[in-house]
Amino acid sequence: NTVDVAQVLFRGSRQVRNALWSWAVPERHENPRLVGVSAAGARLVGLSRERFWANPEAAAEVWSGNQRLPGSHGWAHCYGGHQFGQWAGQLGDGRAISLGEVVAEDGRWEIQLKGSGRTPYSRFGDGYAVRRSSIREYLAAEHLHALGIPSSRSLALVFTDRIVEREQPERGAVLTRLAPSWMRFGSFELPASRGDYRLVRKLADYMLRHHFADIKDSGKSAENRYAQLLRRVVQLTAHMVARWQAVGFCHGVMNTDNMSMLGRTIDYGPFAFLDAYNPRFICNHSDPVGRYAFDEQPRVALWNLIRLAAPLSVLIDSSAQASTPSEPTKPPATDLLSQTTVEILERVLNGFEDVFATEYTRIMRRKFGLFSTAEDDDSSVLIKPFLALIAEAKTDYTFAMRTLCQVPEALSGTVSPANQPSQLRSLVDGLAERSLNQDCEFEEWKCRVCGFFESVYASRLARDLGCVDGKLTSASSETVCEVGARMKRENPRFVLRNWVAEDVILRAREGEEEWIDKILAVMTTHAFDDQLPEHLAEAEKYAGPVPRWGE
Ligand code: AMP
Ligand code: MG
Ligand code: MG
Repeated sequence: NTVDVAQVLFRGSRQVRNALWSWAVPERHENPRLVGVSAAGARLVGLSRERFWANPEAAAEVWSGNQRLPGSHGWAHCYGGHQFGQWAGQLGDGRAISLGEVVAEDGRWEIQLKGSGRTPYSRFGDGYAVRRSSIREYLAAEHLHALGIPSSRSLALVFTDRIVEREQPERGAVLTRLAPSWMRFGSFELPASRGDYRLVRKLADYMLRHHFADIKDSGKSAENRYAQLLRRVVQLTAHMVARWQAVGFCHGVMNTDNMSMLGRTIDYGPFAFLDAYNPRFICNHSDPVGRYAFDEQPRVALWNLIRLAAPLSVLIDSSAQASTPSEPTKPPATDLLSQTTVEILERVLNGFEDVFATEYTRIMRRKFGLFSTAEDDDSSVLIKPFLALIAEAKTDYTFAMRTLCQVPEALSGTVSPANQPSQLRSLVDGLAERSLNQDCEFEEWKCRVCGFFESVYASRLARDLGCVDGKLTSASSETVCEVGARMKRENPRFVLRNWVAEDVILRAREGEEEWIDKILAVMTTHAFDDQLPEHLAEAEKYAGPVPRWGE
């Protein structure tokens, strides 16, 4: 095949056909050093953080890939993907090697090294990861999980002495990460692009057997198990993206090879949390047009699901079902799909927007301290107007949502009715202080924010709490305090902002590597706390304003 020959000559990768993976062996790293262990991650695979630190040298040997675990044979997964809207062909794990799975009663975890060296899918890359990006992924995966967002997980972080050539030479790292499965939308797209529907089916059956065991073909439903699989991935993805939007997380590289079949956030690259609330925020400097801008994420997720639907459509089609091909078959033209299949696909994919909207509103309602689901309460009346206000002033999103937790108390006059206006007013002053937009007429803006709280939000809360006269002032102070406390469990005080991650990276570079796991604790155990424990008090600044250099 001339294409393959050309690719080998130009140091591209060999095309791997009829297989979803290749054996791969981690390279040797000099002086690996254990710098981070996630206690929660370790528990998932039956280990403890203490056990790592009991012998950090031995741990570094294993989790750098230098020492093979008994029974482990590494592999790299072969997948393709659409990158920035274009079909990119074969990609695969270019710098990730899976070591095996831990199968526990409550699930399975595939253990994967990232940055351990070249694989058959490295193409032009070196297979390494630098410390900067490894620290970011290590912290972010555990942080998102702690925020209630499905994510891959982190087990351990090892630094090596390797010099890795990037824009400047940097030092290397190996991250050990966990997921029940690392299969991506692109895992299905690649064999389908080659007409290998035998392999597509094999993979779909594998996913059904190991990760969606409750899905069965049922005689009653026109939807076979592959249609149900697609439906499930649509739901999981919609749930994940709804949580991203609610917390202000921007993934940055939503290529189909970075979309997990399990609806978990994977492949942390240029991700960012919003500082100032800007729906058009772009965190990837290779994305000038904003294909992956913050407010595009739901649309992009659906676009990606449509890419996944294409290979699955052949399995969904009942006629294709009947004749199980033993040989790889050519993809059928879309007009060869039966009318029933087309209708199923439309129904399943159209479900995305509903699931997303329902889930987003549900989460936002909880962030606003609301339990009931009044009809006129959702986006258009409450949530959207508030977001419009903070978008106008470019108010810090995380800070604004956290401030919201104090508003019910300020509105209810629990303190003393005389203090009420000033208490609300000082909260709004606080919001103004954490706003960037200098053009905004602040006095007028503050009045509108106060007005929003006193009218729309107060009456909605009153209704939620069942105040008979429709006034929040008639709710008991205990009740109102409970609402505030509950809201604080929904609105984090700490998020892994870019400047925070950068600060951790710089301190680690200056030798303060313990800071990484301290911040891991802040971003997981303490993300919702009003006050950090004494030994982490220095990290209080990470809840404060973004410093000039961090903007
Ligand atoms: P990403 O955009 O990070 O998801 O990466 C896209 C593709 O490039 C994947 O197939 C990666 O495995 C591969 N890749 C990224 N960085 C490297 C690297 N340093 N060495 C080898 N492959 C890489
Ligand atoms: Mg990737
Ligand atoms: Mg990546």
